[in-house]
Amino acid sequence: MAEIFKSGNVDLLNGKVAVLGYGSQGHAHALNLRDSGVEVEVGLRAGSASAAAAEEAGLTVRSVADAVRGAQLVAFLVPDGAQPSLYEEEVAPNLEPGAALLFAHGFNVHYGRIAPPAGHDVIMVAPKGPGHVVRRLYTEGYGTPAVVAVAQDASGQAQELAFAYGAALGAARAGMVVTSFAEETETDLFGEQTVLCGGVTQLIQLGFETLVEAGYQPEVAYYECLHELKLITDLIWEGGIERMHFSISDTAEYGSHAVGPKVVDEHVRENMRAVLASIRDGSFARDWIAEMDRGQPSLDVYRAKLAETQIEQVGARLRALNVKEETAGVG
Ligand code: NAD
Ligand code: MG
Repeated sequence: MAEIFKSGNVDLLNGKVAVLGYGSQGHAHALNLRDSGVEVEVGLRAGSASAAAAEEAGLTVRSVADAVRGAQLVAFLVPDGAQPSLYEEEVAPNLEPGAALLFAHGFNVHYGRIAPPAGHDVIMVAPKGPGHVVRRLYTEGYGTPAVVAVAQDASGQAQELAFAYGAALGAARAGMVVTSFAEETETDLFGEQTVLCGGVTQLIQLGFETLVEAGYQPEVAYYECLHELKLITDLIWEGGIERMHFSISDTAEYGSHAVGPKVVDEHVRENMRAVLASIRDGSFARDWIAEMDRGQPSLDVYRAKLAETQIEQVGARLRALNVKEETAGVG
């Protein structure tokens, strides 16, 4: 069993941390670190739309070069596609000797797109959750678990530095597991493609379409195949699959066991193995890098097609109905 680490020495972060990017992860890291007592500067491109939000939150915003100068640690929290050129052009020329480089995903280091010279710690703290949840749970006193890794240990204490960063981020409250850049990159890509993002959205859409095509009302199909999914996964998240099965009816529990494997069957396992192979041999990375280099035209088409689907239009209408009602003082 993997060891779960629940602490880190935040005092190791006694210099400045440059948080590059103020998007999903960037805002969460900058604010959580700041609230944990770490000196943070946010590094953004000139004219960045995120600058106002960061300043509004009381953070110091500088150019990427200025944030990197004098920083003890530089956190790469801009999109993965933007990181290699940002590293070459703005980070490497301004990096202090011995400054650590931190990533929230292993992609660029693992596939060799960023190769920092010896003399710099290269570490990863990858929260296992979206940035907005990383921030919200921290403010509520909880944390988002993270996996941490060391690709290069120049200081001899790179691992401790990663734990320190994880503690400041709130990840230590939930638990940190030591991994490698390879394991994080490959499992992260696999999980988002087959289960979390690609798998679950495909399951939702196929379920919705099957019901609608058979003549059922789209609103009923939406509630059944999308809305309730959150309630079910909340139960699984809280107490595992058994906790969810305890809460649902015996009818649902029997169907879950007896019918689920007929839907997501051994073909799906074969498909998953093929996906994993394309991640491990680098062919998915080659496709995605080529797509990024073209300016992501396929992603634009995917987004436009999804926006036109019936489930997205039905969902927008139904979700808009659920507005918060102020309850009058009930005594
Ligand atoms: P994001 O798309 O939310 O980042 C946007 C930010 O990056 C903005 O501040 C923007 O101004 C800046 N930016 C965009 N393009 C830039 C460029 N060319 N040069 C400089 N700055 C630029 O990014 P994200 O989803 O938070 O991802 C950041 C890192 O965190 C990635 O390595 C990602 O794999 C990892 N990660 C993300 C999540 C998540 O919840 N989104 C979860 C785990 C790990
Ligand atoms: Mg992930």
